[in-house]
Amino acid sequence: MPELPEVETTRRGLAPHLVGQRISTAVVRNAALRLPVPRGLAKHLAGATIRNVDRRGKYLLIDCGSGTLIVHLGMSGRLWLVEAGTAPQTHDHFDLVLENGRIVRLRDPRRFGLVLWHDRGSAEHALLASIGPEPLSSAFSGEWLYDVTRNRAAAIKLVLMDSHVVAGVGNIYASEALFRAGVNPKLAARRIGRGRYDLIAEKIRETLEAAIQAGGSTLRDFVGGDGRAGYFQNEHLVYGRGGEPCLTCGTAIRELRQGQRSTFYCPVCQRR
Ligand SMILES: [Zn+2]
Repeated sequence: MPELPEVETTRRGLAPHLVGQRISTAVVRNAALRLPVPRGLAKHLAGATIRNVDRRGKYLLIDCGSGTLIVHLGMSGRLWLVEAGTAPQTHDHFDLVLENGRIVRLRDPRRFGLVLWHDRGSAEHALLASIGPEPLSSAFSGEWLYDVTRNRAAAIKLVLMDSHVVAGVGNIYASEALFRAGVNPKLAARRIGRGRYDLIAEKIRETLEAAIQAGGSTLRDFVGGDGRAGYFQNEHLVYGRGGEPCLTCGTAIRELRQGQRSTFYCPVCQRR
């Protein structure tokens, strides 16, 4: 599943090839994504020049002047550039066709992704309006986490995955950051003090930045190729390592279910 680093890598991979380009049309082969792809999308896009490619949480925001094309990769989505005439495969549901002949193609086998349009001038899109601060921005800090968790009895791991608290920290990076901070994922969020939140915020930032840096080596794969661009296998410290020895102390990594997702942690290193 693409998490924030994959989405940011996608943004960085595509932006240099998109900004300043004129769109000739959009092709919707299957509108049945998590929400229906809006009818008449091609009308909004045809003739528009792409001004910018931004990211908010796990949403890619393609600024087309009169409005924004919002793309979410869902559980299995990939977005990359192909040359004109490249035949679409079964799960290639959406193409953004550029006047220079290139096509931005969305492949999404599980169809949990989104392709939406948001007119400039209308209120912020409902999906984006309530998202918390970006974890890599200065608005995100230990102070922020401390302040918003004073009444939260839920486990810290689940609170970090709540997009109202912080944007785009998913299952993998919540587990990894808590390991780096030495904090038990089951701990009630309101019981964690300010100093430990400073450490958690720092480790979230560090974990995401390391993953984005690792993804940098895949940037060239965003042009041409077979749609594998944007996914990379990171070396995780705890995630996916249930039963294996902790890389710090050798204790077996534990796996538990929290909110129907797997959490991985070291019972010795994460006692704080
Ligand atoms: Zn350990």
